[in-house]
Amino acid sequence: MKLIPRLLIVTATATLVMAASPDHSPEPALYGADPTLTLEIGVAIDRFSQQGLTLPELSIYFHDDLESCDGHGGLFTGETLQIDLCTDTTHFIYHELAHAWAHHSLTEDTRQAFVEHVEAPSWANGNDPHDQRGTELAADAIAHGLRTEALSDAEALRTAWVLERYLFLTGRPSPRLET
Ligand SMILES: [Zn+2]
Repeated sequence: MKLIPRLLIVTATATLVMAASPDHSPEPALYGADPTLTLEIGVAIDRFSQQGLTLPELSIYFHDDLESCDGHGGLFTGETLQIDLCTDTTHFIYHELAHAWAHHSLTEDTRQAFVEHVEAPSWANGNDPHDQRGTELAADAIAHGLRTEALSDAEALRTAWVLERYLFLTGRPSPRLET
């Protein structure tokens, strides 16, 4: 009789170790999404899964006004695992999902290492300018690295510094660099 090997729990250190095989995130609960947005969210979530980036169980709300997102294009709330989207741009869909992934999957050590790597004033200190916080730079890097549109050689070169941040956070190159 074969013994089933015990599951090894690997603790991520400063360099995040990601699963080698595709992972599957739980289906989010969607509120106010039309068929186009439902499809786009599905594609984006699949993209995270294909890269082994696991998302938590999310509730995603779509709004017609910016007030519901405190004047931003989107908002992620870690306490309730809720995403509010106030624009239908692809960037914000990936950006807010990236916040959810970082909240769910990044260790404190990795966040701190990223802050130092990009010379951000903090990960998420409310006193620091919004766009300079590590959490925002990380979400932008994940969004840029994961989008499904092909990158031309020129774009890949021009945004190499963002793609390098994607690699730093996920431990694997951006799928947009695959030919
Ligand atoms: Zn953000």
